[in-house]
Amino acid sequence: MATTVIRNADLVIAWDATEKQHLYLTDAEVAYRDGQITFVGRGYDGPADEVIDGKGMMVMPGLVNIHCHPSSEPMNKGLIDEIGSPGLYNSSLYEYMPIFRADAEAVPSCVRVALSELLLSGVTTVADLSMAHPGWLDLLGESGMRVCIAPMFRSARWATKNGHTVEYAWDEAAGEKSMTEAFSLIERAEQHPSGRLFGMVVPAQIDTCSETLLRESFQEATKKNLSWQIHAAQSVHEFHEITRRSGFTPIGWLDSMDLLSERSIIGHGIFLDDHPRTKWHTENDLDRLAATGTTVAHCPTVFARRGIAMRSFGRYRKRGVNMGVGTDTYPHNMLDELRLVSYLARTQSEDPRSLTSTDLFDAATIGGATALNRDDIGRLAPGCRADFVMVDVTHPQMRPSRDPMRSLIYAAGDRAIRSVHVDGQAVVRDGKVLTMDYEGAAAHLDEAQKRIIARAPQQDWAHRPVDKISPPTFRWA
Ligand SMILES: [Zn+2]
Repeated sequence: MATTVIRNADLVIAWDATEKQHLYLTDAEVAYRDGQITFVGRGYDGPADEVIDGKGMMVMPGLVNIHCHPSSEPMNKGLIDEIGSPGLYNSSLYEYMPIFRADAEAVPSCVRVALSELLLSGVTTVADLSMAHPGWLDLLGESGMRVCIAPMFRSARWATKNGHTVEYAWDEAAGEKSMTEAFSLIERAEQHPSGRLFGMVVPAQIDTCSETLLRESFQEATKKNLSWQIHAAQSVHEFHEITRRSGFTPIGWLDSMDLLSERSIIGHGIFLDDHPRTKWHTENDLDRLAATGTTVAHCPTVFARRGIAMRSFGRYRKRGVNMGVGTDTYPHNMLDELRLVSYLARTQSEDPRSLTSTDLFDAATIGGATALNRDDIGRLAPGCRADFVMVDVTHPQMRPSRDPMRSLIYAAGDRAIRSVHVDGQAVVRDGKVLTMDYEGAAAHLDEAQKRIIARAPQQDWAHRPVDKISPPTFRWA
């Protein structure tokens, strides 16, 4: 078995297992064998079959993205960037999301585009929350990424016939069937020859799943020791839908069923009982999340587009909630997402001290790893997977270099990333994805989007042309 050594790295973001935190380690070396890290430190004198020059580089753990929809979101670019239903508290979920869905032919290109963009921004592990589609496992295998496959299932579909009420078409038997299929897909993922796929249980949304489906899926996740994620507290409409049905807030209802736990992940957990837009009579939801060890998957971009924000990341963290970060939508750029997490947290709390870059990087690494029930990713330490990113600290936008992590998040972004490695294998080098045809897939999406645009008016309740639903930035002359 060959050992690879990164020699003389200017800097390694190393994991201090005693203090349970990342630290800056200068002039350091990282060694790995068979996809697993064997050494992080100074003065390595073990075997070295292959050497990578670390001069001018910062070696950091690959980022962990716990909430993403690669099979659908890339299609929305240019369509739903600036729209939210005025009659549904500016959410885009009920009126617009269903009418711009990628068709079967476009799905593989969507996946390749999203995963390529994630790799380019330093993500090595992603949770792919999608409806099951043909060839899914092999597509994920091809990407070279570590993927938590998260097949979504539900008992109801939502739709609006007027832009201000949401109707649910229930089919509990179909929900049960697709849950069973999700479990068998997860089993097949775990046996995939790539060895990099694992699974998560995802009843899609709190308002589309029956109580039985929620309870059964959680029981099964517990039995199989898998993480369990659900979209909840993601719109004002959904908040009040659940209060009307159950008398509880969305978070309160999950708690009443004992579905909040260390294996539970709430995407997106914004509309708690004390969020100013919900005006509820209690203030318990944040404590419920913290007390049960539940993770919140925070994805600010897709909400910020519609003027919606969590109140606030720093407050959740200080209360003791485990926080993870996801990109949810394009640009599928985790470093851009982190920068937005930080600025929104500070503007929402009106406090520059509310969120540090330490909290931020933790959420994108160990916070996410904890949520995915993995202690071998999101950190660089012996025994962990060799999932790492090499950042050029000599890039002009990384200088001055007093605090390289801040230079990366607040200035250079993905421009300073030189290579990305999963299980020690290079998947990105010099701004190029090595495993997938990113450019080809992106060109294919351009064609596919024309079909979606032509079809959308038939799906829209008011049969509006797309230019009326989503007016372009400028008039096309
Ligand atoms: Zn989502």
